[in-house]
Amino acid sequence: MAGSSYKKIEPGLKSVAAVQSPIAFIDLKAQRRRLGQAIDDAVQGVFAHGRYILGPEVSELESQLTAFCGTKFAVTCSSGTDALALVLMAKAVGPGDAVFCPTFTFCATAEVVAQLGATPVFIDSDRTSMNMDPESLKCGISTARSLGLHPVGVIPVDLFGQPADYDRILPIAEQEGLWVLADAAQAFGAVYKGRPVGTLAMATTTSFFPAKPLGCYGDGGAVLTDDADLAAVIKSLRVHGQGEDKYDNVRIGMAARLDTIQAAILLQKLAIFADEIAQREGVAARYSEALADICEVPVIAEGLRSVWAQYTIKVPLTKNRDEVVRALAAERIPTAVYYPRPLHKQTGYRRYPTAAEKLDRAERLAQEVLSLPMHPYLEASTQKYIVDAVRRALS
Ligand SMILES: *Cc1c(COP(=O)(O)O)cnc(C)c1O
Repeated sequence: MAGSSYKKIEPGLKSVAAVQSPIAFIDLKAQRRRLGQAIDDAVQGVFAHGRYILGPEVSELESQLTAFCGTKFAVTCSSGTDALALVLMAKAVGPGDAVFCPTFTFCATAEVVAQLGATPVFIDSDRTSMNMDPESLKCGISTARSLGLHPVGVIPVDLFGQPADYDRILPIAEQEGLWVLADAAQAFGAVYKGRPVGTLAMATTTSFFPAKPLGCYGDGGAVLTDDADLAAVIKSLRVHGQGEDKYDNVRIGMAARLDTIQAAILLQKLAIFADEIAQREGVAARYSEALADICEVPVIAEGLRSVWAQYTIKVPLTKNRDEVVRALAAERIPTAVYYPRPLHKQTGYRRYPTAAEKLDRAERLAQEVLSLPMHPYLEASTQKYIVDAVRRALS
């Protein structure tokens, strides 16, 4: 974040009186007001031409996504989860294969692996970045081999908007002959040492779920890759495995397209996305400035740029996090815990292997994390009110 400019919260700012309407955790309505008529016109445009499936807005969005992140191909699809599934299907992942996933993530990362009959192997987190720990990945690979599994790929997650440690993960994967699929559902628009998210791995997936940094008004997602063959297979898979001839399906696929209306909406949102990322950085900087002395605030590694899908602090274990949540709720401040349980502790995932007997750091993170309201339209006065309440709750 070095070099980014932001307004500090002025000490004299009247906060409580300024906050009359309920505070939004993510304020989609403020964004909607900013976009105004442009969104209505974009949707009307789709009604006018009537090409609701794979209409012109879909290909326009795909070309603008490639321009935004500098990748050769973007294939949009029905969700971030389906984006992951499409890549795994293209790589023919199946029974006996091991795919390495962080345990401290949203379930979809591992769900798609299990759904295809392969084995997700859970990896511990780095305490500071909260992303996949490369040392634990090494352990996970040998654990998988010792269980007779065939390691095929790694799915690092760019948690809360910050890219994972690709400079350490990619060489491990290469040495072991594994592909890397980046789950950037929370991180489209982020940058890793000068390289945009989308260009860091064999393939990158993202989500346009409404609450993600770049969200539509429903479900949506995309796969980004430089691999022409992979992009072509995924394009076929998203339409039932269609071949050159529409009625000669050459593989087993899915119905996983992005609606034209959602593409039209995303084109409008993409136009203001760079500005929104800068706004999020300002919000994050103000939080960190005001909270760093009383709790662990997010640390963005040197040379990285987060898109701040979440602003997540670590509540000291000496405090009761539930009480902190209740105290903030009493002041009408919404918060969220992403994630209260690592995947290897969840009922559906307990039977899958873990890199080591205990994934201590992820388990501890699950007890400590607390996400505060974060969106580009969070005003300084509202943020001052939140910060004051957080300080009271933590002191
Ligand atoms: C949101 C999310 C997904 C799934 O995206 P959907 O569009 O909701 O299917 C996958 N992985 C991570 C890390 C996510 O945060």
